[in-house]
Amino acid sequence: MRTITVIGASLAGLHAALALRTQGYDGRLVIVGEEHHRPYDRPPLSKEFLTGALTADRLSLADAEEIAELDADWLLGTRAEGLDPPSRTVALADGRKLSTDGVVLATGAVPRTLPGEPLAGVHTLRTLDDAAALREELSRGQVRVVVIGAGFIGAEVASSCATLGHSVTVVEAAAQPLLPQLGARMAAFCADLHTDHGVTLLTGTGVRALHPEPGRSAAADGGRGRVGWVELADGRFLPADVVVVGIGVQPATGWLQGSGLVLDDGVVCDAGGATPVPGVVAVGDVARRAGHRAEHWTSAMEAPAVAVRNLLAGTTVETYSAVPYFWSDQYGIRLQLAGTTSAADTVRVVEGSPEDRSFLARYERDGATTAVLAANRPRPFTRARRELSREGGLAPV
Ligand SMILES: Cc1cc2nc3c(=O)[nH]c(=O)nc-3n(C[C@H](O)[C@H](O)[C@H](O)COP(=O)(O)OP(=O)(O)OC[C@H]3O[C@@H](n4cnc5c(N)ncnc54)[C@H](O)[C@@H]3O)c2cc1C
Repeated sequence: MRTITVIGASLAGLHAALALRTQGYDGRLVIVGEEHHRPYDRPPLSKEFLTGALTADRLSLADAEEIAELDADWLLGTRAEGLDPPSRTVALADGRKLSTDGVVLATGAVPRTLPGEPLAGVHTLRTLDDAAALREELSRGQVRVVVIGAGFIGAEVASSCATLGHSVTVVEAAAQPLLPQLGARMAAFCADLHTDHGVTLLTGTGVRALHPEPGRSAAADGGRGRVGWVELADGRFLPADVVVVGIGVQPATGWLQGSGLVLDDGVVCDAGGATPVPGVVAVGDVARRAGHRAEHWTSAMEAPAVAVRNLLAGTTVETYSAVPYFWSDQYGIRLQLAGTTSAADTVRVVEGSPEDRSFLARYERDGATTAVLAANRPRPFTRARRELSREGGLAPV
C-alpha cells in the first residue's frame, strides 16, 4: 500500500498509526481528525482535569519526538464526510478528496443528547473543549449541578463536582446506578458512594425537559436562554445552574452512510478489526468487533496493532480477544472491572468488604468466574484479571 489514511486522531487512531510504522509500513500516512488537538487522553477529562488537578498540556498521548518519528501528514480540524471504497477516496468537509489504498476507521463515539433546543449551561463531556467549557462554568463560584445519568461518566463528573464543593444531584432513570453493568449488589455500593459524599441521587425517574431560567434575557446567552430547571418525568422540578448530560454515547458512523460498510451500533468487523470491504479496518469505540463494541480505553489502545496487521496482510491473520477491562475513579475509589457480567451472575466478595470501601468480588455463572470487580484493591485485581485471561479462567476459592 502506498497511502494509508487514518480517520480519527485520538487514542485508537494514534495507536493504529504507531503500529503501522512499528510493523514496517513506510508509505504515506495521513491522519484526519475533526478536533484541532493532537491526540490526548480522555479519561482525565471527567476526573483530574475537571477538578483542576491536571492541565491540558499533561494530556498528550504522544510527545513531539514520537509525532516526528511517525512521519505522518496531520489534517487536524478536518472532518471526513464520506468514504467511497470503489474509488478509494475519502471526502473531507472542506471539499478535498483524498486518494488512499488503505483506511483505518477510528472515529470513536459521540455523546447522546436530550431532545430540544440546546440551552446555555447544559453540557456533554467527550472532548477536551467540552471539558474546558464545563470546567470554566464550575470555576465561577458555588453552583447547583444536575447530572443526568449515573453511568461511569456521570458518576465521575458528580464526584469531581462534589470535590469542587458544588451542590450535586444525580438523576438516573434505572432503579440503581450502573445496574446493567454491575448487578444489584454492586450497584447499591455505587449508589452509596454518591450519598456518602453529600450527592443527592434520584433513581427510577427520567428527565422530561430542561427549562430556561425565567426572567433572564436570552440575549446574554447567545439567544439560547440559560438552563434554570430540570423537569423530571415524575413531575418534580430541580433548580439547576449547570446540567451535565451523561446518558451514553453512540458510535460516530453517520459520515459512513452510503459507503457500503455494514453499520449496526458501530462499524461491523471481524475479530481482527477487518470490515467486509477490502482495505478498510475499524478500531476503538467505533468498531463492533465480532458482535461486540467496547467503549474502553485499553481495547482502543491494544486492538489497533492487530487491525493494522490484518490491513497490511490483506486478510485476517490475527484476532484480538483480550478480556474486556475498564476502570473508573469516583470519590477517591478506583473501581476496576474485567470480564463480562450478566444479570444471571452471582456476585461473591472474596476479599475485603464493600462496607470498608475496599474489596475484590467475583461474578460467577455455572461454576465459572465471568468477571472480577475491585474497589481500591489494585494488586489482587491485577492478579485476578491475569488469571481470568488465562485459558481455564480463575481457580475456585
Ligand atoms: C470523559 C471520559 C472519561 C473516560 N474515562 C475512562 C476510564 O476511566 N476508563 C476507561 O477504560 N475508559 C474511559 N473512557 C473511554 C475512553 O476514553 C475511550 O474508550 C477512548 O477514548 C476511545 O478511543 P477512540 O480513539 O476509539 O475514540 P475517541 O477517543 O472518541 O476519538 C475519536 C476521534 O475521532 C474524531 N472524529 C469523529 N468523527 C470524525 C470524522 N468524521 N472525521 C474526522 N475525525 C472524526 C473525533 O473528533 C475524535 O477526536 C472515558 C471517555 C471519556 C469521554
